[in-house]
Amino acid sequence: MKYVDEFRNGALARRLAAAIVREADKSRMYHIMEFCGGHTHAIFRYGVQDLMPGNVRFVHGPGCPVCVLPIGRIDNAIELAERHSATVCSYGDMMRVPASERRSLLKAKAAGADIRMVYSITDALKIAREHSDREVVFFAIGFETTTPPTAVAILQAKAEGLRNFSVFCNHVLTPAAIQHILQSPEVRALGTVAIDGFLGPSHVSSVIGSRPYEYFAEEFQRPVVIAGFEPLDVMQATLMLIRQLNEGRHEVENEYVRVVTHEGNLKAQALVAEVFELRPSFEWRGLGDVPYSALRIKDAFSEFDAEKRFQVTTRRVRDAKSCECPSILRGAKKPTDCKLFGTVCTPESPIGSCMVSSEGACAAYWSYGRFRQDAGVSGVRTHKEAAE
Ligand code: SF4
Repeated sequence: MKYVDEFRNGALARRLAAAIVREADKSRMYHIMEFCGGHTHAIFRYGVQDLMPGNVRFVHGPGCPVCVLPIGRIDNAIELAERHSATVCSYGDMMRVPASERRSLLKAKAAGADIRMVYSITDALKIAREHSDREVVFFAIGFETTTPPTAVAILQAKAEGLRNFSVFCNHVLTPAAIQHILQSPEVRALGTVAIDGFLGPSHVSSVIGSRPYEYFAEEFQRPVVIAGFEPLDVMQATLMLIRQLNEGRHEVENEYVRVVTHEGNLKAQALVAEVFELRPSFEWRGLGDVPYSALRIKDAFSEFDAEKRFQVTTRRVRDAKSCECPSILRGAKKPTDCKLFGTVCTPESPIGSCMVSSEGACAAYWSYGRFRQDAGVSGVRTHKEAAE
């Protein structure tokens, strides 16, 4: 298959669904965590869960970079603009994420702070070049996919001798978070989150390859199948996971061979290794402190590290009291378990991060009408209507 439409082909989807029904053992459940927000979005948008038999359930994981950023780091970014008078450049989906005291980057901007929405770090570099009298800080977030462009921008800034550009680094790492989820009390001791296998991330794996998942597939005896973002990718990978579980295997398999290799993108990995090093610990929203799960800028590039330049101090801020984002990000609860869902919290007026980003589970539930099925309410929008 060469074109995207082929990965959304209805006849093929029905054939795959029939194979899943045939091969899923009716005497057991299959709990499959999709780590990546892109998969969550595909599952909701194309109604993949509806095509599964009742004993195959998707558990939504913490794979949305906007959703996992702790509130304290957003407060830090606002402080950079307000206290240090820096021009803070951020991706658009961060702008409305609630910070402390119901603030956000957008509200700080409305109050006069110089906060600008950019499409890439290249835009931030351009702003720094054009405004040499201002400190320009790029608010860097994201998993392994977005880290290489940040490394390239820092190398570029160094080569140009840009003195007014720095990066507030919040890049996080996927394998460490998956391992942390499997070690969490909910999974290990309490058994409140059943996870039998993982759909491995698509774009992240195109950078890091399939090799980094091998350790925990073996250590925790959970299979991983790396899957593309299209609905047929997700269904094919689910079938591959079901087959592994039926056969008692726990291996790393790759459904997304058109993009992902065993070694990944070695050039991108070398760029990241040149500029960044591991943080001993980093706070994830919903997961708490996760060891060796994030990157910081190496000392050799400290002049471009906003944390050092402005002496940013770590802040601990609790989530809004009734917001269930932390449990949702651990797969322990569903969006409809939150009392605020669809009442005071909607995409237009989000309370928690899971409702802000389109990859967040709450936003996906809301946008594609899945919550109505959960509630047993008739009149669920068709997928076509939902997509319009
Ligand atoms: S519905 Fe809103 S408040 Fe509730 S968990 Fe989701 S984002 Fe948080």
